[in-house]
Amino acid sequence: MEAEVKVLDQNTANQIAAGEVVEKPASVVKELIENSLDAGADNIEVTIYEGGTEYIRVVDNGSGMSKDNANLSVLRHATSKIRNAEDLQSIHSLGFRGEALPSIASVAKFELVTRLHDEEFATAITINGGTDTECIATGGNVGTAITVRDLFFNVPARRKFLRTVNTEGRYINEIISKIALSRPDVHFRLLNNDKEVINTPGNGNLVDTIASIYGKNVANDLITLKYEDNGIGVSGYIGKPTMLKGTRQWQTIFVNGRTINNRMIGKALDHAYRSQIPKGGFPFAVLAITVDTANIDINVHPQKSEIKFGDEGAVYRVVYHALSDALTKPLMGSGDMGKYVAEHIDDTDNSAMYTKRPFGGGGNNYQANQQQIWKTPESIAENNGIEFSAAQRTDENMNLSPMENNIAIQDVNNGVDNIWPLGQIDRVFIVAQSETALYLIDQHAAHERVMYDKLVNSHQNIPTQQFLIPLYLDATPQEVSSIEEYRKEFMQLGVDVEPSGETILRVSSLPADIKNDEAEEFIREILTLLSENKKINPADLREEVLHYAACHSAIRAGELLNIRQMRALILELLNTEHPFTCPHGRPCMIEITSEELYKMFKRT
Ligand code: ADP
Ligand code: MG
Repeated sequence: MEAEVKVLDQNTANQIAAGEVVEKPASVVKELIENSLDAGADNIEVTIYEGGTEYIRVVDNGSGMSKDNANLSVLRHATSKIRNAEDLQSIHSLGFRGEALPSIASVAKFELVTRLHDEEFATAITINGGTDTECIATGGNVGTAITVRDLFFNVPARRKFLRTVNTEGRYINEIISKIALSRPDVHFRLLNNDKEVINTPGNGNLVDTIASIYGKNVANDLITLKYEDNGIGVSGYIGKPTMLKGTRQWQTIFVNGRTINNRMIGKALDHAYRSQIPKGGFPFAVLAITVDTANIDINVHPQKSEIKFGDEGAVYRVVYHALSDALTKPLMGSGDMGKYVAEHIDDTDNSAMYTKRPFGGGGNNYQANQQQIWKTPESIAENNGIEFSAAQRTDENMNLSPMENNIAIQDVNNGVDNIWPLGQIDRVFIVAQSETALYLIDQHAAHERVMYDKLVNSHQNIPTQQFLIPLYLDATPQEVSSIEEYRKEFMQLGVDVEPSGETILRVSSLPADIKNDEAEEFIREILTLLSENKKINPADLREEVLHYAACHSAIRAGELLNIRQMRALILELLNTEHPFTCPHGRPCMIEITSEELYKMFKRT
């Protein structure tokens, strides 16, 4: 027999929608806060008990609603934010689906009290699991207060799927934190079982907001970011490469003010940090991305937590470049040594100043007199008792054109500054100067950066050295089988290693950058890496090898360098993609501008 087709009643339809919209207490909080923000509130207070399962109350000082609107607002598909499907193309509000209030009211004990600014009375509406709707006039503050009790009391199956009250409480904390980061101008407060756990200043300052949520330490370890290309804007703060977190939870991404999850942007973050971070881990980030509303579809997820970009690739590229750019900016002094103070750069609006190739290439404003300070390329490359490959490569570069001789960072006026060494401190740090700044360079870190970039650039085809007499290493049977498994990857790295019996390895070639007496240690390092981390993929393995090779062939701390060697090293360093950080994410060069010197000497 054919089953009868019937249109569902409102309450059933609402409960079905609730299945998607109201997944957990945090979803209720998210929807209510979004409504408060859409209503123009700048003060939002959330109170929860038992992880929000028993009690959620969101109070705002927004516009409030008239009695008529309040009655409409709890009906399905009732919204003040769009009028037709075309409006979906240009949404500037957080809500638009018109289903949050009725969905929540259908699966909880719901109470709404709302009052318009110039009305004497407030309207109170109560709904009990989608039924027994009551509406009365009452006293109340301007704005809206919504209380949600006993969530899922009439949907026991749902209630069973709730996590512990601690976990649900944490989800609420996370979602409020993220939304608060998107609106530093709004004061957010969360009380969890009578304890204040979030209290943002609402003063419009994002760093203060970050500090109130993640603490001062995180706020002190940030790099500013502001970038625009192709109609796509990226701004916000990212963590220094040394500040890594165990989860993506520390990454907050907004698109046009909406907190979203997006794998592609996560990937852009990972890739931009790749050359800065040797090991796994997730960078800290609060990124606000702006795109033309016509180029995104925000109506692809019932909780509005995902969006679809018209051109994902374009967004990826802009985000990636924004991050790489910011990571390449210098570490500056400004009283707090080693702290990133990138705002300084933004103030002067000369972000072009620290682009990847700070000198050479440019071609303009070459100051011929600068050349006289320095000897000819030949004289730099010659001599050098100490083996110093940087100098040799410099020599090759320098034969190309006079431009390449010039070590310069374009300053604000697009002029050219030279950086030249003054001396070495403790055989570890090079002190150098330009006309407008003082530089402190960690010689090991700097050379590591140089070597690393060189190795990366020679990718695919790492120059190798063949041994006349192979090297034999003792190994465990596990190590031997790992080698068998990764033989191909090893080959690509320039390491020809194969089993020679159950516990012996034969090495016939190594990357040219690995010194002979370091061969064994080098192989062991990779083996350890493999045995500790069986799942390491070839790309990561390669990365590790590059770090190792760069680190081990680099000039050591404690090595005495003459001025020419220092000069050659600086030249090479400035030619790298990231002259200010070593591959491990530590600083290799710190810049203290004359402006900062003035400040230090209290001359401003
Ligand atoms: P949506 O936000 O998608 O429009 P909701 O069900 O969340 O749908 O809300 C329905 C309507 O109720 C909103 O469009 C808005 O007009 C009104 N509303 C909800 N919450 C508030 C609030 N806190 N302050 C003022 N108006 C509100
Ligand atoms: Mg809404």
